[in-house]
Amino acid sequence: MGLGDRLERRSKQSWNAALNLFLRVDCLLCNRSNEQAICPSCQSLLLGGARARPLDILEPLPVFAWGSYEGGLKRAILGMKYDGQRAVGELLGQWLGRSWRAARLPPLRLVPIPMHEVKRQARGYNQAAVIAQGFAQETKQILDSRLLVRSRSTTAQHGLSLVDREANLRSAFSIAPFQGVKPMVLLVDDIYTTGATAREAQRSLVAAGFGVWGIAVVAR
Ligand SMILES: [Zn+2]
Repeated sequence: MGLGDRLERRSKQSWNAALNLFLRVDCLLCNRSNEQAICPSCQSLLLGGARARPLDILEPLPVFAWGSYEGGLKRAILGMKYDGQRAVGELLGQWLGRSWRAARLPPLRLVPIPMHEVKRQARGYNQAAVIAQGFAQETKQILDSRLLVRSRSTTAQHGLSLVDREANLRSAFSIAPFQGVKPMVLLVDDIYTTGATAREAQRSLVAAGFGVWGIAVVAR
């Protein structure tokens, strides 16, 4: 290696070192400085908590859930929703996609549960769509973030009874115009609690002639 090559290599190395220093962030879960939104050791802890059997056939909608909504996974999801941690959503979506592939489930059209446009603009992104993006990258399924539209802003579901939740959600969704044979859809969301939102989305899609296979979520 000539002197010129060595000098070039050294300047490249110091440039990379400077770049890495610049790109370092605090891990969302343990605050350790590293290069990712969640550091490698917290990632392995989270991966250890993934459900061995993610699929539950619940009536009237099968639910595919990657993990349980508790501990580090709960904090990661809250960070993704309320702390601008978009990269965490992509990562969780990829993990969800990997376990979908491992379960050898069929390819479907991915439809994230939409947020109302006003709320989406305030947050900068819809976390369900970000998760669905990671999921689609991993499984090569078609992502359709425009099919299901939140037509009405609903009050927060938190603290409402099941009956009130369903009344609150009625006609909350509409379906965008669609050309061609209507495919089988897989809904995607961050968490599954009572399933009221998923059932309302399913009702709207089925009324418009789509089949709904179920819903895939990061946690329940
Ligand atoms: Zn960490």
